[in-house]
Amino acid sequence: MIGAQWGDEGKGKITDLLSSSADVVVRYQGGVNAGHTIVVDGKELKLHLIPSGILYADTTCLIGSGTVVDPEELIKELDMLLENGIDTTGLQLASTAHVTMPYHCLLDEVMEEKRGARRIGTTGRGIGPTYSDKSERTGIRVRDLLDPTQLRDRLCDVLELKNEILQKIYAAEPIDPEVVISDYLAYGERLAPYVVDCTRTIHAAARDRKNLLFEGAQGTLLDLDHGTYPYVTSSNPVSGGACIGAGVGPTLIDRVIGVAKAYTTRVGEGPFPTELEGSVNEHLTDKGKEIGTTTGRRRRCGWFDAVIGRYAVQVNGIDCLAITKLDVLDELSEIKVCVAYALDGQRINHFPTDAAAFARCRPIYRTMPGWRSSTSDCRSLEDLPRTALSYLTYLADLIEAPIAIVSLGPDRDQTILVEDPIHGPKRGLLSH
Ligand code: GDP
Repeated sequence: MIGAQWGDEGKGKITDLLSSSADVVVRYQGGVNAGHTIVVDGKELKLHLIPSGILYADTTCLIGSGTVVDPEELIKELDMLLENGIDTTGLQLASTAHVTMPYHCLLDEVMEEKRGARRIGTTGRGIGPTYSDKSERTGIRVRDLLDPTQLRDRLCDVLELKNEILQKIYAAEPIDPEVVISDYLAYGERLAPYVVDCTRTIHAAARDRKNLLFEGAQGTLLDLDHGTYPYVTSSNPVSGGACIGAGVGPTLIDRVIGVAKAYTTRVGEGPFPTELEGSVNEHLTDKGKEIGTTTGRRRRCGWFDAVIGRYAVQVNGIDCLAITKLDVLDELSEIKVCVAYALDGQRINHFPTDAAAFARCRPIYRTMPGWRSSTSDCRSLEDLPRTALSYLTYLADLIEAPIAIVSLGPDRDQTILVEDPIHGPKRGLLSH
């Protein structure tokens, strides 16, 4: 299950729904920069790293090899779940996942500050620097936290250079290795019962014909390789990222489920062709509560963009879609959908991967009537106002993927299940 836009598509709720039929839920990329809000019995739970499948007692939740883990934050999340009476014994943490260290967070902050007007809008959680160290082969992995000698050896080497960078380039305070070693060994001790060999867990489950759900964080347009570079995240949220971050071959994946909002939002910097200003923007932000779970930042809002929707279907191989937050559009008298872009006087139907060209794209809209009535109590397609159903069918046609789930509110039951997204036919009722 992947985000088909710029993240924040409401994946938390959809993973929660799908988790009820999954034996293992795997997070395969990203770190605590992701945020899921799940509402269970009217109670809000905010998760950043732990897959939302943790709410089901019999589900194994694996934080996979491709993620980066801030152990202090992970422990806070565990404590929050325990305080809410949720059993965390199903949690597993890949020994090979990389660890976010204090210098990563500090570097994230000072580097973003130095970028000034060219800032990329990072969450300041050290995710980018952790992934950079991973590719530079200077990272610390979860298993290092369980071995005092190994942690000391690796950290002392790395920290000498990091401190030099912090002091000489950014005029920041150096970090004391002894404090880091002692803190991180304590974190290791606390997390040790959860640490596993990620690929063994997955392949044992696959051999036993269990259902595995791979849960992407952020979204397609934030993908390091296929998103709106450089305004992207430092990992691969696309479906292919699941293969790398979890250690499975593409042949193991049967279905790809894309999640998209009935409109579009974007956090941070970067071009956003359908971005709105004025009262409709305010309405979407307020009614959609478009404020980041992790960052507290106000999200930029815009109309649904079918050009990026089609692109997401292609780069992820999406079989079916979950459309979320349809209810947020309930009061609007008219709704626009971006069907194509105007680029330098020409109409284009595809997403231009050249960042400068994308920044020059202007949306070409089709305007549709709104339905001006509440959809939040609808439980089947027949319950929906006719214009809302036409809107959904139009989206499915435009982006060339059938809609399997429609979400009409934050609660689990505020959902229309058009077809079973996991076992259902490849073409649902809302088919193109
Ligand atoms: P994620 O990062 O993709 O999981 O997205 P978030 O968790 O940040 O965003 C989803 C927010 O929208 C949460 O507050 C959800 O409770 C809420 N939400 C999810 N689906 C719906 C929906 O269909 N309608 C409304 N009104 N809110 C929803």
